Amino acid sequence: MKIFGIGMHPDDIEFIMAGTLALLKKKGHKITIATVGSGDMGSVEYVPADLSRKRYSEAKASAELLGAEYISCGISCLHVVFDNPTRFMVTEMVRKIDPDIVITMSPQDYMKDHEITADLVWDACFNASLPNYHTGLANPAKATSKIPYLYYGDPVEFKDRFGNSIHPEFYVDIKDVMEIKTSMLKKHESQRSWLKRQHGMDKYTETMKELSGRRGKEIGIEYAEGFRQHKGHAFSQDNVLEKLLKNKVKYKK
Ligand SMILES: [Zn+2]
Repeated sequence: MKIFGIGMHPDDIEFIMAGTLALLKKKGHKITIATVGSGDMGSVEYVPADLSRKRYSEAKASAELLGAEYISCGISCLHVVFDNPTRFMVTEMVRKIDPDIVITMSPQDYMKDHEITADLVWDACFNASLPNYHTGLANPAKATSKIPYLYYGDPVEFKDRFGNSIHPEFYVDIKDVMEIKTSMLKKHESQRSWLKRQHGMDKYTETMKELSGRRGKEIGIEYAEGFRQHKGHAFSQDNVLEKLLKNKVKYKK
């Protein structure tokens, strides 16, 4: 199957779904990773254009560890909006990959770019299949043959803007792939130094492990990633990830 992970910033994928993508890769599925944003805001050392290039190469190096392709819409951070030009871009991205499964950001999260990404991806998964929906962009791809399965990963610190907990519908046991998830995150060196300065957080990979550990603890295992499935009209209702990952998919009792 073709699996498409779409984050907002370079490094969102690593926090939210890299373990699950690694398990799917091990099963022989084709993985593509994308970001809607370029990640060009988080620095005092680089101007946005330079940072954007640096973060592109870091995200590409991370994807390569997984044996995945990396693409980006390259939208400047804090400039992501839900408008027609952006809908067209995300739709073209989905059409080019024609995925069976899409995993993206949480629709409730700590910052608007994350939430808009979730909306853009949901919208594009549906629109991409409509042959009469023309994007007007150069070299347009064909309409997709189907609406893919759609999943949302966990928000940052597992809460919405009011501080309410967001509970996953199911968990994926990622203990066996923590090493690659960690190695992938380590490729985002520029983000690590930014967080150290801005948020006093020099525990980039430790934070990721702590969060995956928290999700794991909820179901009595070491490390997990949590997901919710999009089940609105026209989207598939069965949990294809459970079919593919079998007993790695766990539910809270
Ligand atoms: Zn992010």
